[in-house]
Amino acid sequence: MIKRLRELLNDPELDYQSKSFVLLSVIALIGLFLAMISGIILGQSFAANLSVFVEFVLFSAIFLWAIYRNAIRKAMLLITAFLIFVFLPSAFFTSGGAAGGTPVWFAFTTLYVVMTLSGRPKKFFLICNLIVVIICWWIGYTHPETITEFTRKEAFFDSFFTLLIVGVVMTALLSYQALLFRRENERVSNQKKEIEELNRAQNRFFSSMSHEIRTPINSILGLNEVILRQDDASDEIKNDAGAIQGAGKMLLALVNDILDFSRIEAGRMDIVPVQYRLDGLMSEIVNMILLQAKEKGLTFSAHIDPDVPSVLIGDEIRIRQIIINLLNNAVKYTESGTVNIEIRSVETGDDRINLIISVSDTGIGIREEVLPILFDAFARMDREKNRKIEGTGLGLSIVKQLTDLMDGDIKVDSTYGQGTTFTVTLPQEVSDPKKIGNINIMDHASRNYIYESMFTAPEADILVVDDIKMNLMVVKKLLRETKVRIDTASSGHEALDMTLNKRYDVILMDHLMPEMDGIECLECIRNQSGGMCTDVPVIVLTANVGGENNELYKEAGFDEILAKPVSGNSLEETLLRFIPRDKIDE
Ligand code: ATP
Ligand code: MG
Repeated sequence: MIKRLRELLNDPELDYQSKSFVLLSVIALIGLFLAMISGIILGQSFAANLSVFVEFVLFSAIFLWAIYRNAIRKAMLLITAFLIFVFLPSAFFTSGGAAGGTPVWFAFTTLYVVMTLSGRPKKFFLICNLIVVIICWWIGYTHPETITEFTRKEAFFDSFFTLLIVGVVMTALLSYQALLFRRENERVSNQKKEIEELNRAQNRFFSSMSHEIRTPINSILGLNEVILRQDDASDEIKNDAGAIQGAGKMLLALVNDILDFSRIEAGRMDIVPVQYRLDGLMSEIVNMILLQAKEKGLTFSAHIDPDVPSVLIGDEIRIRQIIINLLNNAVKYTESGTVNIEIRSVETGDDRINLIISVSDTGIGIREEVLPILFDAFARMDREKNRKIEGTGLGLSIVKQLTDLMDGDIKVDSTYGQGTTFTVTLPQEVSDPKKIGNINIMDHASRNYIYESMFTAPEADILVVDDIKMNLMVVKKLLRETKVRIDTASSGHEALDMTLNKRYDVILMDHLMPEMDGIECLECIRNQSGGMCTDVPVIVLTANVGGENNELYKEAGFDEILAKPVSGNSLEETLLRFIPRDKIDE
Protein backbone atom coordinates (compact mmCIF):
# COMPACT_ATOMS: atom_id res chain seq x y z
CA MET A 1 0.00 0.00 0.00
CA ILE A 2 2.72 2.49 1.00
CA LYS A 3 4.75 1.41 -2.03
CA ARG A 4 1.81 2.05 -4.32
CA LEU A 5 1.28 5.47 -2.74
CA ARG A 6 4.92 6.39 -3.21
CA GLU A 7 4.74 5.22 -6.80
CA LEU A 8 1.74 7.42 -7.47
CA LEU A 9 3.22 10.50 -5.78
CA ASN A 10 6.44 10.20 -7.78
CA ASP A 11 4.80 9.32 -11.08
CA PRO A 12 5.81 12.07 -13.55
CA GLU A 13 2.85 11.18 -15.76
CA LEU A 14 0.31 11.85 -13.02
CA ASP A 15 -0.97 15.43 -12.89
CA TYR A 16 -0.70 17.66 -9.87
CA GLN A 17 -4.40 17.44 -9.04
CA SER A 18 -4.42 13.66 -8.91
CA LYS A 19 -1.33 13.70 -6.70
CA SER A 20 -3.01 16.22 -4.39
CA PHE A 21 -6.01 13.90 -4.26
CA VAL A 22 -3.89 10.94 -3.20
CA LEU A 23 -2.10 12.95 -0.54
CA LEU A 24 -5.22 14.65 0.79
CA SER A 25 -7.15 11.40 0.88
CA VAL A 26 -4.48 9.68 2.94
CA ILE A 27 -4.44 12.52 5.42
CA ALA A 28 -8.24 12.73 5.47
CA LEU A 29 -8.43 8.98 6.18
CA ILE A 30 -5.98 9.34 9.05
CA GLY A 31 -8.04 12.31 10.25
CA LEU A 32 -11.27 10.31 10.11
CA PHE A 33 -9.62 7.46 11.95
CA LEU A 34 -8.45 9.82 14.72
CA ALA A 35 -11.90 11.43 14.79
CA MET A 36 -13.38 7.97 15.29
CA ILE A 37 -11.03 7.18 18.19
CA SER A 38 -11.47 10.58 19.81
CA GLY A 39 -15.28 10.25 19.47
CA ILE A 40 -15.20 6.95 21.36
CA ILE A 41 -12.84 8.31 24.04
CA LEU A 42 -14.96 11.42 24.46
CA GLY A 43 -18.06 9.26 24.78
CA GLN A 44 -19.90 10.85 21.85
CA SER A 45 -23.39 9.66 21.01
CA PHE A 46 -23.69 6.26 19.31
CA ALA A 47 -25.19 7.91 16.21
CA ALA A 48 -22.21 10.25 15.88
CA ASN A 49 -19.70 7.42 16.32
CA LEU A 50 -21.53 5.25 13.86
CA SER A 51 -21.67 7.96 11.22
CA VAL A 52 -17.93 8.58 11.49
CA PHE A 53 -17.28 4.83 11.27
CA VAL A 54 -19.46 4.43 8.17
CA GLU A 55 -17.73 7.42 6.58
CA PHE A 56 -14.33 5.96 7.31
CA VAL A 57 -15.21 2.60 5.75
CA LEU A 58 -16.82 4.18 2.69
CA PHE A 59 -13.98 6.64 2.13
CA SER A 60 -11.37 3.87 2.46
CA ALA A 61 -13.23 1.72 -0.06
CA ILE A 62 -13.44 4.49 -2.62
CA PHE A 63 -9.78 5.40 -2.08
CA LEU A 64 -8.54 1.82 -2.51
CA TRP A 65 -10.64 1.43 -5.64
CA ALA A 66 -9.15 4.67 -6.99
CA ILE A 67 -5.50 3.81 -6.48
CA TYR A 68 -5.61 0.14 -7.45
CA ARG A 69 -8.01 0.44 -10.37
CA ASN A 70 -6.55 3.71 -11.71
CA ALA A 71 -9.88 5.43 -11.26
CA ILE A 72 -8.53 8.53 -9.59
CA ARG A 73 -10.63 11.03 -11.51
CA LYS A 74 -13.87 9.21 -10.89
CA ALA A 75 -12.97 8.77 -7.24
CA MET A 76 -12.22 12.47 -6.87
CA LEU A 77 -15.70 13.34 -8.10
CA LEU A 78 -17.33 10.65 -5.99
CA ILE A 79 -15.52 11.68 -2.80
CA THR A 80 -16.24 15.34 -3.34
CA ALA A 81 -19.92 14.61 -3.83
CA PHE A 82 -19.85 12.35 -0.79
CA LEU A 83 -18.14 15.02 1.34
CA ILE A 84 -20.49 17.79 0.35
CA PHE A 85 -23.77 15.97 0.25
CA VAL A 86 -23.33 13.31 2.97
CA PHE A 87 -20.39 13.77 5.31
CA LEU A 88 -20.62 17.48 6.00
CA PRO A 89 -24.41 17.79 6.52
CA SER A 90 -24.49 14.64 8.67
CA ALA A 91 -21.52 15.84 10.73
CA PHE A 92 -23.13 19.23 11.09
CA PHE A 93 -26.34 17.86 12.54
CA THR A 94 -24.83 15.07 14.65
CA SER A 95 -21.81 16.96 15.99
CA GLY A 96 -22.86 20.21 17.56
CA GLY A 97 -23.76 22.29 14.45
CA ALA A 98 -21.94 25.61 14.15
CA ALA A 99 -20.38 25.16 17.60
CA GLY A 100 -18.42 21.95 16.73
CA GLY A 101 -15.63 21.24 14.29
CA THR A 102 -17.82 21.02 11.14
CA PRO A 103 -17.35 24.67 10.03
CA VAL A 104 -13.62 23.96 9.68
CA TRP A 105 -14.43 20.87 7.62
CA PHE A 106 -16.58 22.98 5.30
CA ALA A 107 -13.64 25.34 4.80
CA PHE A 108 -11.39 22.33 4.23
CA THR A 109 -13.78 20.97 1.58
CA THR A 110 -13.52 24.24 -0.33
CA LEU A 111 -9.73 23.85 -0.33
CA TYR A 112 -10.06 20.21 -1.37
CA VAL A 113 -12.27 21.11 -4.34
CA VAL A 114 -9.96 23.90 -5.47
CA MET A 115 -6.87 21.68 -5.27
CA THR A 116 -8.20 18.50 -6.80
CA LEU A 117 -10.74 19.56 -9.42
CA SER A 118 -10.70 21.86 -12.39
CA GLY A 119 -13.05 23.29 -14.97
CA ARG A 120 -16.78 22.72 -14.68
CA PRO A 121 -16.77 20.11 -11.85
CA LYS A 122 -14.76 22.57 -9.75
CA LYS A 123 -17.28 25.38 -10.24
CA PHE A 124 -20.19 23.01 -9.73
CA PHE A 125 -18.94 21.61 -6.43
CA LEU A 126 -17.89 25.00 -5.06
CA ILE A 127 -21.41 26.31 -5.63
CA CYS A 128 -22.92 23.13 -4.16
CA ASN A 129 -20.70 23.44 -1.10
CA LEU A 130 -21.89 27.01 -0.57
CA ILE A 131 -25.55 26.04 -1.00
CA VAL A 132 -25.19 23.11 1.45
CA VAL A 133 -23.56 25.43 3.99
CA ILE A 134 -26.39 27.95 3.67
CA ILE A 135 -29.06 25.24 4.00
CA CYS A 136 -27.37 23.60 7.04
CA TRP A 137 -26.89 26.89 8.86
CA TRP A 138 -30.38 28.03 8.02
CA ILE A 139 -32.02 24.79 9.26
CA GLY A 140 -29.74 24.71 12.30
CA TYR A 141 -30.70 28.26 13.16
CA THR A 142 -34.43 28.02 12.56
CA HIS A 143 -34.83 24.44 13.91
CA PRO A 144 -32.29 24.03 16.74
CA GLU A 145 -33.91 20.72 17.71
CA THR A 146 -32.49 19.04 14.57
CA ILE A 147 -28.96 19.43 15.97
CA THR A 148 -27.40 17.10 18.52
CA GLU A 149 -25.83 19.77 20.70
CA PHE A 150 -22.34 19.26 22.17
CA THR A 151 -21.58 19.87 25.76
CA ARG A 152 -19.17 22.76 26.33
CA LYS A 153 -16.30 20.29 26.75
CA GLU A 154 -17.23 18.28 23.65
CA ALA A 155 -17.51 21.44 21.55
CA PHE A 156 -14.04 22.57 22.59
CA PHE A 157 -12.47 19.15 22.04
CA ASP A 158 -14.18 18.63 18.69
CA SER A 159 -13.16 21.99 17.26
CA PHE A 160 -9.66 21.56 18.68
CA PHE A 161 -9.15 18.18 16.99
CA THR A 162 -10.64 19.37 13.75
CA LEU A 163 -8.35 22.39 13.69
CA LEU A 164 -5.41 20.12 14.46
CA ILE A 165 -6.25 17.69 11.66
CA VAL A 166 -7.00 20.37 9.08
CA GLY A 167 -3.83 22.21 10.15
CA VAL A 168 -1.75 19.09 9.53
CA VAL A 169 -3.47 18.54 6.18
CA MET A 170 -2.77 22.08 5.02
CA THR A 171 0.85 21.97 6.14
CA ALA A 172 1.36 18.67 4.32
CA LEU A 173 -0.34 19.94 1.23
CA LEU A 174 1.54 23.20 1.02
CA SER A 175 4.88 21.50 1.70
CA TYR A 176 4.11 19.01 -1.01
CA GLN A 177 3.22 21.81 -3.39
CA ALA A 178 6.50 23.57 -2.59
CA LEU A 179 8.34 20.30 -3.28
CA LEU A 180 6.62 19.88 -6.63
CA PHE A 181 7.41 23.47 -7.48
CA ARG A 182 11.10 22.93 -6.71
CA ARG A 183 11.17 19.76 -8.78
CA GLU A 184 9.46 21.49 -11.66
CA ASN A 185 12.02 24.28 -11.50
CA GLU A 186 14.87 21.79 -11.56
CA ARG A 187 13.28 19.98 -14.47
CA VAL A 188 12.88 23.20 -16.44
CA SER A 189 16.45 24.29 -15.81
CA ASN A 190 17.76 20.85 -16.81
CA GLN A 191 15.66 20.95 -19.92
CA LYS A 192 16.99 24.40 -20.73
CA LYS A 193 20.53 23.12 -20.43
CA GLU A 194 19.71 20.18 -22.67
CA ILE A 195 18.17 22.44 -25.30
CA GLU A 196 21.19 24.74 -25.21
CA GLU A 197 23.51 21.77 -25.60
CA LEU A 198 21.39 20.46 -28.47
CA ASN A 199 21.51 23.86 -30.11
CA ARG A 200 25.28 23.98 -29.79
CA ALA A 201 25.55 20.47 -31.21
CA GLN A 202 23.32 21.43 -34.10
CA ASN A 203 25.40 24.51 -34.83
CA ARG A 204 28.61 22.50 -34.62
CA PHE A 205 27.07 20.04 -37.01
CA PHE A 206 26.01 22.74 -39.47
CA SER A 207 29.36 24.47 -39.45
CA SER A 208 31.35 21.27 -39.80
CA MET A 209 29.01 20.08 -42.53
CA SER A 210 29.36 23.37 -44.33
CA HIS A 211 33.14 23.09 -44.01
CA GLU A 212 33.15 19.53 -45.33
CA ILE A 213 30.98 20.44 -48.30
CA ARG A 214 32.83 23.62 -49.12
CA THR A 215 36.13 21.79 -49.46
CA PRO A 216 35.10 19.63 -52.43
CA ILE A 217 33.14 22.51 -53.99
CA ASN A 218 36.37 24.48 -53.85
CA SER A 219 38.02 21.90 -56.08
CA ILE A 220 35.05 21.63 -58.41
CA LEU A 221 34.56 25.35 -58.94
CA GLY A 222 38.25 26.18 -58.98
CA LEU A 223 39.26 23.59 -61.56
CA ASN A 224 36.13 24.32 -63.53
CA GLU A 225 37.15 27.97 -63.70
CA VAL A 226 40.46 26.86 -65.13
CA ILE A 227 38.58 24.95 -67.86
CA LEU A 228 36.35 27.95 -68.59
CA ARG A 229 39.44 30.10 -69.07
CA GLN A 230 40.90 27.87 -71.75
CA ASP A 231 40.66 29.57 -75.12
CA ASP A 232 41.19 26.36 -77.03
CA ALA A 233 38.35 24.46 -75.36
CA SER A 234 35.45 23.57 -77.66
CA ASP A 235 32.04 25.20 -77.23
CA GLU A 236 30.66 21.96 -75.90
CA ILE A 237 33.31 21.78 -73.19
CA LYS A 238 32.66 25.40 -72.28
CA ASN A 239 28.90 24.80 -72.12
CA ASP A 240 29.39 21.79 -69.89
CA ALA A 241 31.80 23.71 -67.69
CA GLY A 242 29.23 26.53 -67.51
CA ALA A 243 26.65 24.04 -66.30
CA ILE A 244 29.05 22.68 -63.68
CA GLN A 245 29.65 26.22 -62.50
CA GLY A 246 25.91 26.88 -62.18
CA ALA A 247 25.31 23.69 -60.23
CA GLY A 248 28.33 24.25 -58.01
CA LYS A 249 27.23 27.76 -57.17
CA MET A 250 23.75 26.53 -56.38
CA LEU A 251 25.12 23.91 -54.04
CA LEU A 252 27.24 26.55 -52.40
CA ALA A 253 24.25 28.88 -52.00
CA LEU A 254 22.36 26.06 -50.33
CA VAL A 255 25.16 25.38 -47.86
CA ASN A 256 25.39 29.09 -47.12
CA ASP A 257 21.65 29.32 -46.56
CA ILE A 258 21.67 26.46 -44.09
CA LEU A 259 24.63 27.90 -42.25
CA ASP A 260 23.07 31.39 -42.13
CA PHE A 261 19.81 29.98 -40.98
CA SER A 262 21.42 28.09 -38.09
CA ARG A 263 23.42 31.16 -37.20
CA ILE A 264 20.31 33.35 -37.09
CA GLU A 265 18.49 30.73 -35.04
CA ALA A 266 21.34 30.66 -32.54
CA GLY A 267 21.29 34.47 -32.35
CA ARG A 268 24.81 34.66 -33.68
CA MET A 269 24.23 36.55 -36.89
CA ASP A 270 25.94 39.91 -36.53
CA ILE A 271 25.21 42.89 -38.71
CA VAL A 272 28.52 44.47 -39.74
CA PRO A 273 28.10 47.98 -41.15
CA VAL A 274 30.69 49.13 -43.70
CA GLN A 275 30.94 51.93 -46.24
CA TYR A 276 29.62 50.94 -49.64
CA ARG A 277 28.43 52.29 -52.95
CA LEU A 278 25.09 51.17 -54.33
CA ASP A 279 26.24 51.27 -57.94
CA GLY A 280 29.09 48.89 -57.20
CA LEU A 281 26.85 46.58 -55.25
CA MET A 282 24.16 46.61 -57.91
CA SER A 283 26.28 46.12 -61.00
CA GLU A 284 27.61 42.86 -59.61
CA ILE A 285 24.12 41.64 -58.80
CA VAL A 286 22.69 42.77 -62.12
CA ASN A 287 25.46 40.91 -63.89
CA MET A 288 24.42 37.71 -62.22
CA ILE A 289 20.66 38.03 -62.56
CA LEU A 290 20.76 39.29 -66.14
CA LEU A 291 22.21 35.99 -67.29
CA GLN A 292 19.55 33.96 -65.48
CA ALA A 293 16.74 36.19 -66.74
CA LYS A 294 18.03 35.96 -70.32
CA GLU A 295 18.15 32.19 -70.16
CA LYS A 296 14.45 32.16 -69.28
CA GLY A 297 13.61 34.77 -71.92
CA LEU A 298 12.58 37.38 -69.34
CA THR A 299 13.07 41.11 -69.63
CA PHE A 300 15.13 42.35 -66.72
CA SER A 301 15.46 45.97 -65.72
CA ALA A 302 17.14 47.74 -62.83
CA HIS A 303 16.87 51.34 -61.81
CA ILE A 304 18.44 53.41 -59.04
CA ASP A 305 16.86 56.76 -58.23
CA PRO A 306 19.41 59.55 -59.01
CA ASP A 307 18.70 61.18 -55.62
CA VAL A 308 20.07 58.26 -53.57
CA PRO A 309 23.25 59.32 -51.69
CA SER A 310 26.37 57.94 -53.36
CA VAL A 311 28.07 56.38 -50.33
CA LEU A 312 26.15 54.65 -47.57
CA ILE A 313 27.00 52.78 -44.39
CA GLY A 314 25.33 49.43 -43.80
CA ASP A 315 25.95 45.71 -43.98
CA GLU A 316 26.72 45.44 -47.67
CA ILE A 317 27.04 41.66 -47.64
CA ARG A 318 23.63 41.10 -46.05
CA ILE A 319 21.94 43.71 -48.27
CA ARG A 320 23.38 41.94 -51.28
CA GLN A 321 22.08 38.65 -49.89
CA ILE A 322 18.57 40.09 -49.48
CA ILE A 323 18.49 41.54 -53.00
CA ILE A 324 19.88 38.38 -54.60
CA ASN A 325 17.36 36.22 -52.79
CA LEU A 326 14.43 38.36 -53.91
CA LEU A 327 15.69 38.60 -57.50
CA ASN A 328 16.38 34.89 -57.65
CA ASN A 329 12.83 34.20 -56.52
CA ALA A 330 11.42 36.68 -59.03
CA VAL A 331 13.27 34.96 -61.89
CA LYS A 332 12.52 31.50 -60.53
CA TYR A 333 8.78 32.03 -60.17
CA THR A 334 8.20 33.92 -63.43
CA GLU A 335 7.59 32.12 -66.69
CA SER A 336 7.29 35.09 -68.99
CA GLY A 337 7.30 38.87 -68.83
CA THR A 338 9.52 41.06 -66.73
CA VAL A 339 11.55 41.18 -63.55
CA ASN A 340 12.35 44.61 -62.25
CA ILE A 341 14.27 46.14 -59.37
CA GLU A 342 13.89 49.75 -58.23
CA ILE A 343 15.90 51.42 -55.51
CA ARG A 344 15.12 54.79 -53.98
CA SER A 345 15.68 56.52 -50.67
CA VAL A 346 13.75 58.66 -48.21
CA GLU A 347 15.58 60.97 -45.82
CA THR A 348 14.84 60.34 -42.18
CA GLY A 349 17.09 63.10 -40.79
CA ASP A 350 20.45 63.07 -38.98
CA ASP A 351 22.41 61.67 -41.90
CA ARG A 352 20.11 58.74 -42.13
CA ILE A 353 17.93 57.45 -44.92
CA ASN A 354 15.53 54.64 -45.53
CA LEU A 355 16.68 52.65 -48.50
CA ILE A 356 13.64 51.29 -50.30
CA ILE A 357 14.23 48.32 -52.55
CA SER A 358 11.37 46.90 -54.53
CA VAL A 359 11.58 43.78 -56.62
CA SER A 360 8.63 43.03 -58.85
CA ASP A 361 7.81 40.33 -61.34
CA THR A 362 5.00 39.23 -63.62
CA GLY A 363 5.15 35.67 -62.36
CA ILE A 364 2.83 33.13 -60.82
CA GLY A 365 1.99 35.28 -57.78
CA ILE A 366 1.24 34.11 -54.28
CA ARG A 367 -2.15 33.12 -52.92
CA GLU A 368 -3.49 35.51 -50.30
CA GLU A 369 -4.14 32.77 -47.78
CA VAL A 370 -0.48 31.68 -47.68
CA LEU A 371 0.91 35.20 -47.16
CA PRO A 372 0.96 34.81 -43.36
CA ILE A 373 3.35 31.84 -43.57
CA LEU A 374 5.38 33.13 -46.51
CA PHE A 375 8.35 34.09 -44.35
CA ASP A 376 8.39 30.89 -42.30
CA ALA A 377 11.41 28.64 -42.69
CA PHE A 378 11.01 25.73 -45.09
CA ALA A 379 7.61 27.07 -46.27
CA ARG A 380 7.10 26.55 -49.99
CA MET A 381 3.83 27.52 -51.64
CA ASP A 382 1.96 25.78 -54.41
CA ARG A 383 4.06 22.67 -54.02
CA GLU A 384 2.25 20.86 -56.80
CA LYS A 385 2.75 23.67 -59.30
CA ASN A 386 6.32 24.42 -58.23
CA ARG A 387 7.38 20.81 -58.07
CA LYS A 388 10.00 21.29 -60.74
CA ILE A 389 11.42 24.48 -59.23
CA GLU A 390 14.32 23.79 -56.93
CA GLY A 391 14.48 25.34 -53.48
CA THR A 392 14.34 24.66 -49.78
CA GLY A 393 12.04 27.45 -48.63
CA LEU A 394 14.79 29.04 -46.55
CA GLY A 395 15.40 32.07 -48.77
CA LEU A 396 12.55 34.32 -47.65
CA SER A 397 12.89 33.33 -44.02
CA ILE A 398 16.50 34.47 -44.10
CA VAL A 399 15.55 37.66 -45.94
CA LYS A 400 12.93 38.45 -43.32
CA GLN A 401 15.25 37.76 -40.39
CA LEU A 402 18.12 39.75 -41.89
CA THR A 403 15.73 42.65 -42.51
CA ASP A 404 14.58 42.47 -38.89
CA LEU A 405 18.18 42.39 -37.66
CA MET A 406 18.82 45.60 -39.60
CA ASP A 407 15.70 47.19 -38.05
CA GLY A 408 14.11 47.17 -41.47
CA ASP A 409 10.81 46.03 -42.82
CA ILE A 410 9.59 43.81 -45.66
CA LYS A 411 6.21 43.90 -47.38
CA VAL A 412 4.75 41.78 -50.09
CA ASP A 413 2.06 42.67 -52.55
CA SER A 414 0.91 39.92 -54.83
CA THR A 415 -1.90 39.04 -57.17
CA TYR A 416 -2.18 35.34 -57.78
CA GLY A 417 -1.52 34.57 -61.42
CA GLN A 418 -0.33 38.09 -62.20
CA GLY A 419 2.79 38.92 -60.26
CA THR A 420 4.45 39.87 -57.03
CA THR A 421 6.24 42.88 -55.57
CA PHE A 422 8.46 42.60 -52.51
CA THR A 423 9.38 45.93 -50.89
CA VAL A 424 12.21 46.06 -48.38
CA THR A 425 12.90 49.17 -46.32
CA LEU A 426 16.31 49.38 -44.66
CA PRO A 427 17.52 52.24 -42.48
CA GLN A 428 21.05 53.21 -43.57
CA GLU A 429 23.54 55.83 -42.53
CA VAL A 430 24.75 58.31 -45.14
CA SER A 431 28.51 58.53 -45.53
CA ASP A 432 28.59 60.91 -48.49
CA PRO A 433 25.38 62.86 -49.19
CA LYS A 434 26.45 63.61 -52.78
CA LYS A 435 23.75 62.20 -55.02
CA ILE A 436 24.51 59.12 -57.02
CA GLY A 437 23.07 60.79 -60.17
CA ASN A 438 21.91 59.19 -63.37
CA ILE A 439 23.60 55.88 -63.80
CA ASN A 440 22.66 53.04 -66.02
CA ILE A 441 23.63 49.94 -64.13
CA MET A 442 22.47 47.77 -66.97
CA ASP A 443 25.47 49.08 -68.95
CA HIS A 444 27.87 47.98 -66.27
CA ALA A 445 26.86 44.40 -66.77
CA SER A 446 29.23 42.53 -69.01
CA ARG A 447 27.95 39.66 -71.02
CA ASN A 448 30.57 37.15 -71.83
CA TYR A 449 33.13 35.50 -69.69
CA ILE A 450 36.51 36.62 -70.94
CA TYR A 451 39.28 35.92 -68.55
CA GLU A 452 42.29 38.11 -68.30
CA SER A 453 44.59 38.09 -65.32
CA MET A 454 44.68 41.35 -63.37
CA PHE A 455 48.45 41.39 -63.12
CA THR A 456 51.57 39.36 -63.64
CA ALA A 457 54.33 39.09 -61.06
CA PRO A 458 56.96 36.58 -62.21
CA GLU A 459 59.32 37.69 -59.45
CA ALA A 460 56.85 37.16 -56.60
CA ASP A 461 57.16 34.10 -54.35
CA ILE A 462 54.10 32.65 -52.72
CA LEU A 463 53.72 29.79 -50.30
CA VAL A 464 50.43 27.90 -50.18
CA VAL A 465 49.78 25.66 -47.15
CA ASP A 466 46.95 23.13 -47.25
CA ASP A 467 46.68 19.49 -46.19
CA ILE A 468 44.49 18.64 -49.18
CA LYS A 469 46.54 18.20 -52.37
CA MET A 470 43.62 19.09 -54.60
CA ASN A 471 43.30 22.52 -52.94
CA LEU A 472 46.97 23.20 -53.60
CA MET A 473 46.49 22.31 -57.22
CA VAL A 474 43.43 24.58 -57.53
CA VAL A 475 45.32 27.62 -56.23
CA LYS A 476 48.28 26.85 -58.46
CA LYS A 477 46.14 26.56 -61.56
CA LEU A 478 44.01 29.60 -60.76
CA LEU A 479 47.15 31.71 -60.42
CA ARG A 480 48.94 30.28 -63.43
CA GLU A 481 48.32 33.31 -65.66
CA THR A 482 49.73 35.70 -63.05
CA LYS A 483 53.07 33.86 -63.36
CA VAL A 484 53.77 34.14 -59.64
CA ARG A 485 56.18 31.48 -58.33
CA ILE A 486 54.28 29.10 -56.09
CA ASP A 487 55.65 26.69 -53.48
CA THR A 488 53.31 24.37 -51.67
CA ALA A 489 53.38 22.71 -48.26
CA SER A 490 50.92 20.10 -47.09
CA SER A 491 51.34 20.56 -43.36
CA GLY A 492 52.23 23.23 -40.83
CA HIS A 493 55.58 21.56 -40.10
CA GLU A 494 56.51 21.44 -43.75
CA ALA A 495 55.59 25.10 -44.08
CA LEU A 496 57.87 25.99 -41.15
CA ASP A 497 60.79 24.20 -42.81
CA MET A 498 60.26 26.30 -45.88
CA THR A 499 59.87 29.66 -44.12
CA LEU A 500 63.16 28.99 -42.37
CA ASN A 501 65.07 29.02 -45.63
CA LYS A 502 63.19 31.24 -47.99
CA ARG A 503 61.50 34.60 -47.84
CA TYR A 504 58.05 34.63 -49.44
CA ASP A 505 56.03 37.69 -50.44
CA VAL A 506 52.70 36.25 -49.34
CA ILE A 507 51.63 33.07 -47.56
CA LEU A 508 48.21 31.50 -48.12
CA MET A 509 47.29 29.30 -45.16
CA ASP A 510 44.50 26.79 -44.63
CA HIS A 511 42.93 26.78 -41.16
CA LEU A 512 41.91 23.23 -40.31
CA MET A 513 44.86 20.87 -40.80
CA PRO A 514 45.84 17.79 -38.81
CA GLU A 515 48.63 18.09 -36.19
CA MET A 516 49.32 21.80 -36.52
CA ASP A 517 46.44 24.03 -37.63
CA GLY A 518 46.77 27.31 -39.52
CA ILE A 519 46.52 29.51 -36.44
CA GLU A 520 49.30 27.64 -34.62
CA CYS A 521 51.40 27.64 -37.77
CA LEU A 522 50.95 31.42 -38.12
CA GLU A 523 52.12 31.90 -34.55
CA CYS A 524 55.20 29.74 -35.19
CA ILE A 525 56.03 31.65 -38.36
CA ARG A 526 55.76 34.98 -36.52
CA ASN A 527 58.03 33.77 -33.70
CA GLN A 528 60.34 31.50 -35.69
CA SER A 529 63.91 32.12 -34.61
CA GLY A 530 66.04 32.59 -37.70
CA GLY A 531 62.83 32.52 -39.80
CA MET A 532 62.78 34.51 -43.01
CA CYS A 533 59.02 35.21 -42.98
CA THR A 534 58.32 36.60 -39.51
CA ASP A 535 56.73 39.74 -40.97
CA VAL A 536 55.32 38.39 -44.25
CA PRO A 537 51.56 38.87 -44.87
CA VAL A 538 49.71 35.64 -44.13
CA ILE A 539 46.23 35.21 -45.60
CA VAL A 540 43.96 32.54 -44.23
CA LEU A 541 42.24 30.62 -47.04
CA THR A 542 39.58 28.50 -45.44
CA ALA A 543 36.20 26.87 -45.75
CA ASN A 544 35.59 27.68 -42.13
CA VAL A 545 34.37 31.25 -42.53
CA GLY A 546 31.76 33.60 -41.18
CA GLY A 547 30.46 34.56 -37.76
CA GLU A 548 32.88 34.19 -34.89
CA ASN A 549 35.47 32.48 -37.11
CA ASN A 550 36.30 35.79 -38.72
CA GLU A 551 36.91 37.29 -35.29
CA LEU A 552 39.14 34.35 -34.49
CA TYR A 553 41.27 34.92 -37.58
CA LYS A 554 41.59 38.63 -36.91
CA GLU A 555 42.63 37.99 -33.34
CA ALA A 556 45.11 35.37 -34.45
CA GLY A 557 46.76 38.04 -36.59
CA PHE A 558 46.01 37.01 -40.16
CA ASP A 559 46.32 39.86 -42.61
CA GLU A 560 43.28 38.87 -44.66
CA ILE A 561 40.57 36.23 -44.82
CA LEU A 562 39.65 34.43 -48.04
CA ALA A 563 36.74 32.02 -48.19
CA LYS A 564 36.76 28.72 -49.98
CA PRO A 565 35.59 28.07 -52.59
CA VAL A 566 37.82 30.83 -53.83
CA SER A 567 37.37 32.40 -57.24
CA GLY A 568 40.35 33.32 -59.40
CA ASN A 569 39.14 36.88 -59.25
CA SER A 570 39.19 37.31 -55.49
CA LEU A 571 42.47 35.42 -55.22
CA GLU A 572 44.12 37.81 -57.66
CA GLU A 573 42.50 40.86 -56.13
CA THR A 574 43.80 39.97 -52.69
CA LEU A 575 47.31 39.06 -53.83
CA LEU A 576 47.51 42.30 -55.75
CA ARG A 577 47.10 44.15 -52.46
CA PHE A 578 49.85 42.23 -50.68
CA ILE A 579 52.56 41.52 -53.23
CA PRO A 580 55.15 44.33 -53.10
CA ARG A 581 54.49 46.94 -55.82
CA ASP A 582 57.92 46.63 -57.41
CA LYS A 583 57.35 42.96 -58.22
CA ILE A 584 54.13 43.60 -60.14
CA ASP A 585 54.05 44.25 -63.89
CA GLU A 586 50.55 45.45 -64.70
P1 ATP B 1 15.19 28.77 -51.54
O1 ATP B 1 15.42 28.55 -50.08
O2 ATP B 1 16.10 27.97 -52.37
O3 ATP B 1 15.12 30.22 -51.88
P2 ATP B 1 12.40 28.84 -52.19
O4 ATP B 1 12.59 29.84 -53.28
O5 ATP B 1 11.36 27.81 -52.41
O6 ATP B 1 13.75 28.12 -51.81
P3 ATP B 1 11.77 31.07 -50.47
O7 ATP B 1 12.64 31.96 -51.24
O8 ATP B 1 11.76 31.17 -49.00
O9 ATP B 1 12.03 29.56 -50.83
O10 ATP B 1 10.28 31.30 -50.93
C1 ATP B 1 9.21 30.60 -50.30
C2 ATP B 1 8.08 30.37 -51.25
O11 ATP B 1 7.44 31.58 -51.56
C3 ATP B 1 8.50 29.79 -52.59
O12 ATP B 1 8.58 28.39 -52.56
C4 ATP B 1 7.39 30.26 -53.51
O13 ATP B 1 6.31 29.37 -53.46
C5 ATP B 1 6.96 31.59 -52.90
N1 ATP B 1 7.56 32.73 -53.59
C6 ATP B 1 8.65 33.44 -53.22
N2 ATP B 1 8.89 34.45 -54.07
C7 ATP B 1 7.95 34.41 -55.01
C8 ATP B 1 7.65 35.19 -56.18
N3 ATP B 1 8.41 36.23 -56.54
N4 ATP B 1 6.57 34.82 -56.92
C9 ATP B 1 5.81 33.78 -56.55
N5 ATP B 1 6.02 33.00 -55.48
C10 ATP B 1 7.07 33.30 -54.71
MG1 MG C 1 14.00 31.52 -52.90
